[in-house]
Amino acid sequence: MRLPVYLDYHATTPVDPRVLAAMLPFFSEEFGNAASRTHVFGWRSAAAGDAARAQVAEIIGARSPEEIVFTSGATESVNLALKGVASAHRSRGDHIVTVATEHRAVLDTCRRLQKEGFRVTYLPVDPNGMIALDGLHAAITNRTLLVSVMAANNEVGTLALLAQIARIARERGAVFHTDATQAVGKVPMNVQAMGVDLLSFSAPKMCGPKGIGALYVRHGIEIAPQMDGGGHEFGLRSGTLNVPAIVGFGAACELCRQEMAAESDRVRRLRDRLHQALAAGLDGVTLHGHPTERLPGNLNLSFAGAQAETVMAMLKDVAVSSASACATASVEPSHVLRAMGVKRSLAHCSIRFGLGRFTTEEEIDYAARCVIEVVQQVRAMSPMDQLAAVAARSC
Ligand SMILES: *Cc1c(COP(=O)(O)O)cnc(C)c1O
Repeated sequence: MRLPVYLDYHATTPVDPRVLAAMLPFFSEEFGNAASRTHVFGWRSAAAGDAARAQVAEIIGARSPEEIVFTSGATESVNLALKGVASAHRSRGDHIVTVATEHRAVLDTCRRLQKEGFRVTYLPVDPNGMIALDGLHAAITNRTLLVSVMAANNEVGTLALLAQIARIARERGAVFHTDATQAVGKVPMNVQAMGVDLLSFSAPKMCGPKGIGALYVRHGIEIAPQMDGGGHEFGLRSGTLNVPAIVGFGAACELCRQEMAAESDRVRRLRDRLHQALAAGLDGVTLHGHPTERLPGNLNLSFAGAQAETVMAMLKDVAVSSASACATASVEPSHVLRAMGVKRSLAHCSIRFGLGRFTTEEEIDYAARCVIEVVQQVRAMSPMDQLAAVAARSC
């Protein structure tokens, strides 16, 4: 077992060696510009890009590969979706509906649009992190251009009732976008069956390379490009295609498609094993997020009386994360947990465990032992000693 144990799969994932092998020829041998139409170098890169586009389309059930626009990642996809709809449809309305627990890619883009005169409604969530469908219905007006609801929450793993949410949005005449970055490749996603118009996701969350993502744009949905140039990607995102990364993204999607069912069973079992070990070894353990409708690899727990920042500073051999620690200099607790009604003091004690493809049972048992020991130590420490521990390992 290699230390430290990596349990932060929501932040990023290792590139699968099979993905890396697929990418390697496209750096030095097959280096052509996919937009070069006049020679074989370009043709080969274009063919590799087309094959990957089909693989990426397939994992989300898109009708056609031409509905996939490659971007630099989910952040860019979200920006293109939200700003693209807002600017293309401004004459029809000025209102956007989203959720308080979204990723900052969505929240910060909405803030930007508010500065430009759009109105944004941030729907509240229940203690499990779910929105109320009647609340969504009531929030949509005839000025609403867009509804954006994430498929799976990156902190607590809660899965949204996506098909029902999409139906309500589209019945009321709004375009429906979902940030599905944590969901694609982990739980079944089908844009046609679910009625999704726009979907953002990226490779680094699914054992693919960093810096590559996609926006699914349903045929017939009009969005305005946010990047002008050579007219690549059907005019929606100009710039030379990153062919090695696109090939890697395609391979990552293909592996997820083939292995998702078995992998999610295995990962869910390990997640439940970790949860059981921690609940058996410690008092005052609270699960955040939905008890059943959640990502298989997500476990978000608070250990009452043990500040996450101190626990993580002392947990040298296990890499986990907490939304409350070091996110900002002021150490605000997670906006997700606060929106779910978790008390500020408990939110500061929340740790997110993210499991994935390469997590082993041995790692889980080791991590559980380390966490139990450290939480017990932290609970016994004076506040001064806790401050010193954090300072000694400043994040
Ligand atoms: C990681 C993540 C993003 C950002 O993805 P990038 O590819 O790093 O831009 C957006 N939304 C969610 C839910 C995420 O987990």
